[in-house]
Amino acid sequence: MAHIVIIGAGIGGMPAAYEMRALLPKEHTITVVNPVDYFQFTPSNPWVAVGWRERPVVTMPIAPALESKGIAFKAKAVTAIDAPGNSVTLDGGETLAYDYLIITTGPKLAFDEVPGAGPHGGHTHSVCTVPHAEQFWARYQEFLKDPGPVVVGAMPGASCFGPAYEFAFILDADLRKRKLRHKVPITYVTSEPYIGHLGLGGVGDSKSMLESELRGHDIKWITNAKTTRVEADKLLVSELDDKGQVHKEHEVPFKLAMMLPAFKGVDPVAAVPGLCNPRGFVMIDEFQRSKAFRNIFSAGVCVAIPPVEVTPVPTGAPKTGYMIETMVTAIAHNIADELAGKQPTARATWNAICLADMGDTGAAFVALPQIPPRNVNWFKKGKWVHLAKIGFEKYFMRKMKTGNVEPVYEKYVLKALGIVRLVEK
Ligand SMILES: Cc1cc2nc3c(=O)[nH]c(=O)nc-3n(C[C@H](O)[C@H](O)[C@H](O)COP(=O)(O)OP(=O)(O)OC[C@H]3O[C@@H](n4cnc5c(N)ncnc54)[C@H](O)[C@@H]3O)c2cc1C
Repeated sequence: MAHIVIIGAGIGGMPAAYEMRALLPKEHTITVVNPVDYFQFTPSNPWVAVGWRERPVVTMPIAPALESKGIAFKAKAVTAIDAPGNSVTLDGGETLAYDYLIITTGPKLAFDEVPGAGPHGGHTHSVCTVPHAEQFWARYQEFLKDPGPVVVGAMPGASCFGPAYEFAFILDADLRKRKLRHKVPITYVTSEPYIGHLGLGGVGDSKSMLESELRGHDIKWITNAKTTRVEADKLLVSELDDKGQVHKEHEVPFKLAMMLPAFKGVDPVAAVPGLCNPRGFVMIDEFQRSKAFRNIFSAGVCVAIPPVEVTPVPTGAPKTGYMIETMVTAIAHNIADELAGKQPTARATWNAICLADMGDTGAAFVALPQIPPRNVNWFKKGKWVHLAKIGFEKYFMRKMKTGNVEPVYEKYVLKALGIVRLVEK
């Protein structure tokens, strides 16, 4: 009888628990550990930040959902991992022994890398968690009474650019609806070397399409932007040239700012000797298994993936839902195989699919594989993306509540995008 412990009940951890339970014989036990007792659907946070969604729609209690499937749950943070000793320590001192450990802890938000950044004592907001998005929404309601310039973008070292574009366009749409857009100059400030790079070296025509969209929505931009400091009302930015030299210094004024931070691995994971790269991301082999500890597997934002290319201001490669879904499925099959005395063989698909909402329309991109040159390199805009994103939120939340283990991307999103491409032809 084996005990599988899963750290982190997010987009990766919850499906990992359900898939493991569906595959493993009942004698094996599964425990999920998460610092809070609710699951949050991160992709909806930009909507929460402008009041288009409220907490009950994008969160759900974890315990009843997992326990109905026979999965144990502890609403505590893991504070330490004893990898050679096969145990984890939880906040409060309790320890859990494991036979297999699955690490799906997502990102540590590295606000501290830019002085003055971040929602806890700094001057920039974030939409990375529901509480951060709610904090923005509270501030935004005040801002609407006396609007001014807004900055949206991504800090040096960021890897998650889709939500930054999304947020700029959602804010633009919300302000237009309120007939206040004319009072709010928006600047998109990004570490990407060019608009539409997305941490992926671009996807299809993403550069010209996103430039055109930003222009069409009166959003100015600064690329190759190394934000060095944030003050109460301005962002200090060194714009680099393609040799990495300072081309121009900017002081970008704002009344409200949302800058996505760089990601790192969370502290208890990063602290395990030999487990992680210098940024604290878990180093894995092609079977999602730690290179140092053969009974530790990992999926999601917390795994180490090399950047697609070197950029003047550092950027990382995004880890998005489709990739995460396939990583989790690979882990479930590989652990089940090991327990059945077989060798692991399942691999994730290193592809990127993203549906980026733009408020009333949206943009979809498909990069197969993630690193160019690609077999599929497709980027398309349309109102259908906005509607697809709403459908995706509903479907994913239902999947989390019911423990359904159908692969959402493989079964629905890829098929839907295939149909759109066929219709286009
Ligand atoms: C604002 C935003 C929007 C995004 N939108 C999209 C999108 O539309 N489409 C898409 O494909 N991708 C999107 N992504 C990228 C990606 O899909 C998400 O970041 C996703 O949430 C990553 O899943 P994850 O399981 O790796 O991490 P998370 O979902 O963040 O889950 C990690 C979990 O681990 C927990 N944890 C952390 N530390 C500990 C600890 N010490 N002990 C126990 N638990 C711990 C956390 O509390 C959290 O519950 C978005 C990302 C962001 C930030």
